[in-house]
Amino acid sequence: MSVIVQKYGGTSVGDPTRILNVARRVVATQQAGHQVVVVVSAMSGVTDALIKLAREVSSGGTPPEREMDMLLATGEQTTIALTAMAIQSLGHKAVSLTGAQAGIVTDGLHTKAKIRDISPRKVQHFLKEGNIVVIAGFQGETDDGQTTTLGRGGSDLTAIAIAAAIKADLCQIFTDVEGVYTCDPRVVKTARKMDELSYDEMLEMASSGSKVMQSRSVEFAKKFGVPFEVRSSFNNNPGTLVKEETMSMEQVVIRGVSIERNQAKVTLRQVADKPGIASQVFKAIANAGIAVDMIVQNVSLAGTTDISFTLNKDDLPKAQKALEPLTDGLGKAVSAQDGIAKLSVVGIGMRSHSGVAAKVFEALSLGGINIQMISTSEIKIAVVVDEDKITEAANLVHEAFGLSAE
Ligand code: ASP
Ligand code: MG
Repeated sequence: MSVIVQKYGGTSVGDPTRILNVARRVVATQQAGHQVVVVVSAMSGVTDALIKLAREVSSGGTPPEREMDMLLATGEQTTIALTAMAIQSLGHKAVSLTGAQAGIVTDGLHTKAKIRDISPRKVQHFLKEGNIVVIAGFQGETDDGQTTTLGRGGSDLTAIAIAAAIKADLCQIFTDVEGVYTCDPRVVKTARKMDELSYDEMLEMASSGSKVMQSRSVEFAKKFGVPFEVRSSFNNNPGTLVKEETMSMEQVVIRGVSIERNQAKVTLRQVADKPGIASQVFKAIANAGIAVDMIVQNVSLAGTTDISFTLNKDDLPKAQKALEPLTDGLGKAVSAQDGIAKLSVVGIGMRSHSGVAAKVFEALSLGGINIQMISTSEIKIAVVVDEDKITEAANLVHEAFGLSAE
């Protein structure tokens, strides 16, 4: 008998009808001869609503993090109980477990705790007794019994981690999309659902804006070799399998194109070309809690150089403020620009095929689209263009690599 972990996200358990639908699906899986562990998220909108409530009663709108975890964990706790009830109403055995009861031990970093260890004895015991085991996603407990949560979208991580701990044969992530697409179908109409991709490709797609899953959970899956499938909870179509890379995956030059809007660019002109400058700049940015994405530094000319970096547009005012005290000694001018977007082309096949960058640039030039910044990794080429042009850019590049449906 094989063991299957199924994770259902917030929309899939968004109301009683949908919870009953999930119950029917997991019962059908069990009846097909499997042991089933179900990991659920809070019902859609619940986590956001709880965060809002917390802000309303907290001074300065920043709730104490320990209590925040106490509160947020209730969202998933509601869903596990309801899901177990729904399964029982269909005449099948089910038991709900909180993260702590499922043996998920974390560090003490409230609201973004890391999983330290999982002791799945209880889970295995209940499975052996013929139960469908329903586990609360997104939560755990510290060594000394404090409730913690794993960061937004953390139910994905729970599912992958439980699958690793009980050595499940399969981990299925059920969501409201059909799988991972070659590009966002709202942007490129002819985008195609991929049958499979590697962990690294999935990570690059996720970090470039294709937010199908929490990135941390994909990293975890890679580290522990947990293959998983992303698929829809609203039908029975096969989804996208994410796994270790295989030889045949390298044959595909480009796996997908992903885009990220809402970006901004900061440029520091004529900063001294000497040790310590970049360190000062990015220390100030990091201290302000801002994540930067691309960083580009020019070749130095007459002892000075330009440094540009991109960040989320919402962080732009904070970044400008953080740089203000520095700019005197640092350079002639800081310029900031929003209204830009990032397009990334991802594929492990890039390692063994040449001419990929040239093809991306050619596609963009056909559309008369100006490239403002370029960065590359082993399996990704990313460019920054005007946000107005991003849809056209995505379509051109998608087409150039023949990614559309046959
Ligand atoms: N309910 C949590 C959130 O909204 C965890 C999850 O849905 O995965 O982030
Ligand atoms: Mg979610």
